[in-house]
Amino acid sequence: MSDASELRREVCALHAYLPAHRLVAWTSGNLSGRAPGAKTMLIKPSGVMFEDLTPESLCEVDIETLEARGPYKVSSDTATHAYIYRHMPEVGGVVHTHSPYATAFAAVGREIPCFLTAMADEFGGPIPCGGFALIGGEEIGREVVRVLRGHRSPAVVMQNHGVFALGPTPRAALKAAVMCEDVARTSFLALQLGTPVPLAQEAIDKLHERYTTVYGQ
Ligand SMILES: [Zn+2]
Repeated sequence: MSDASELRREVCALHAYLPAHRLVAWTSGNLSGRAPGAKTMLIKPSGVMFEDLTPESLCEVDIETLEARGPYKVSSDTATHAYIYRHMPEVGGVVHTHSPYATAFAAVGREIPCFLTAMADEFGGPIPCGGFALIGGEEIGREVVRVLRGHRSPAVVMQNHGVFALGPTPRAALKAAVMCEDVARTSFLALQLGTPVPLAQEAIDKLHERYTTVYGQ
C-alpha cells in the first residue's frame, strides 16, 4: 500500500467524524490532507453527502495551480485550503466546519476566551477570531494564515462564518476542530451561568507547556 493511497483512505475515513461529532449539517464542512512537502492535497468534493464519500471520490488538487483531478467538482473551500498549505509548509491537515457553539462566537465576532484548563492545554490561550472574508477566492485563506501563523492556537473562528482548524496531520486538524467545538460549548454554557473565573496567564503557560511536551503516549 503506497503512502498516497493510505492518505486517501485516512482523509476519507476522518470525514465520518464530522457528522459523528455534530460539527456539520448536511454537506457543509470539509477536511483535507497532504503528505509532508507534497504539492497536491486531497479534499472533499462539493455537495457530496458524508456517508457517500469513498477514497476514490476525493479530489486531488495542485496547491499552486488549483488544477483538480477526480470524478467530482471540488469543494467550494478549495482555494482556502490550498492557500493555507502554500503559506504554512508545516501544515498537513485542514478542517473547516460551521460547528454551532464555536460559530456562535464567530457570529458575534468574538474570540473564544480561555476559561478552562483543557483549553489552555490544547490551544494555549483563547481561540482567536479572524476578520470577515468572502468565500471563493484567497481572502479567507489569507486571513486564516495571518491570524494563525506563529499563534499557539491551531484553530480560528472566522467572523460571521465558522471554524478553520489546522494540524501537522489531518487527524491533528480534526482533533483541533472537535476540541474547539467542545470548549466553545462549555464556555458558552459558563457565560449563561455568570462570569467565568479567568485563568492566570502563568497557569495557561504552564498547562500548555506540560500538555505539549509531557502528556500523552
Ligand atoms: Zn464555510
